[in-house]
Amino acid sequence: MNIHEYQAKAVLKEFGVPVSKGVPILKAEEAEAAAKQLGGPLWVVKSQIHAGGRGKGKFKEASAGDKGGVRLAKSIDETKQFVKEMLGATLVTEQTGPAGKQVNRIYLEDGSDIEKEFYLSLLVDRETSRVAFVVSTEGGMNIEEVAHNTPDKIVTFSVDPATGVMGHHGRTVAQALGLKGDLAKQAEKLVSQLYTAFIAKDMDMLEINPLIISKQGELKCLDAKMSFDSNALYRHPEIVALRDTTEEDAKEIEASKYDLAYIALDGTIGCMVNGAGLAMATLDIIKLYGESPANFLDVGGGASEEKVTAAFKIITADPNVKGILVNIFGGIMKCDVIAAGVVAAVKAVGLQVPLVVRLEGTNVEEGKKIIRESGLNVLPADDLDDAAQKIVNAVKGK
Ligand code: GDP
Ligand code: MG
Repeated sequence: MNIHEYQAKAVLKEFGVPVSKGVPILKAEEAEAAAKQLGGPLWVVKSQIHAGGRGKGKFKEASAGDKGGVRLAKSIDETKQFVKEMLGATLVTEQTGPAGKQVNRIYLEDGSDIEKEFYLSLLVDRETSRVAFVVSTEGGMNIEEVAHNTPDKIVTFSVDPATGVMGHHGRTVAQALGLKGDLAKQAEKLVSQLYTAFIAKDMDMLEINPLIISKQGELKCLDAKMSFDSNALYRHPEIVALRDTTEEDAKEIEASKYDLAYIALDGTIGCMVNGAGLAMATLDIIKLYGESPANFLDVGGGASEEKVTAAFKIITADPNVKGILVNIFGGIMKCDVIAAGVVAAVKAVGLQVPLVVRLEGTNVEEGKKIIRESGLNVLPADDLDDAAQKIVNAVKGK
């Protein structure tokens, strides 16, 4: 789960991490009081959307101007003007996709005088099963580009969970960033605070880009992108309360209500599968035969008829879906239960596109019989290979 920059900064502040003073704004009328409260002389007007690259982003509406989604204002009037222009407008960045995202919240910050910009992030490194730090002197830039063009400018290391974060980790960061004296001390403290916050809140990613040195000689987090391990959210109600569903895919929200593991993709074949591994294999084989999946969907081991119906509704609600592939291996789950669920779902939801059903495992004959006798226009398939070819051909109109 992702949260907004201003929420992430509030979380970081709890752990003593240095961030600028700021005020979130939901309505243009709030801008003046917020600007006065911060005092100036420089204000940063920041669009709050769950995507990076806002500074270099462009608004769809001409009325929002062409100064990007993060703007420096030099007066209260200019601050008010920027807030008014950006609120409600649609910002397109390299991370939003061409549709962009509507800006419904602004974060107004006390502007910093920047001496230098750095990059620092923490993430769960699945290879070492540890939390890793990624540090670079190339701040404010796209880190993937830095990794590609100048990989020697990136320093990474991971923290042993048995010892936790230690002094030498902080010194490694200070050295990587060329910091000495008091700034090195600030870096050591920051590294320890960020790691502590990361673990305490079960984050899976924390990106500070840029981390800056101000002209006053202070190290500060100027941007913060934070995401959390969804499987640990049950122990952080205070984080769940920060969820902004307007930033999420409506189909994914609906799926989470039914405890379905659903991820929207941009292809044409809707998939309903049990088990994450089989679901991945299904996506691969669709690709192999020349089409693209519209989603990843794992209905799980104990899918009820209700869950299968919900899954079907979510798949068919996607206008890009030109065909559906149901691929079930009945282990714990019985094929006849799934078949009954599919038939009930199709009857409830209707079927406008070709549907291929591949069943294998426990009670497979009973399952196939239910599909056959349902009177529905379902294409049966014998194995995964056959199923994938059938749905790809059906979608291509062959
Ligand atoms: P992003 O474009 O979504 O990554 O948003 P950021 O929060 O990183 O802001 C983009 C850029 O705006 C930063 O890289 C900075 O160069 C600039 N910026 C942000 N805050 C300040 C500030 O307080 N003072 C100054 N001078 N520039 C800022
Ligand atoms: Mg940034």
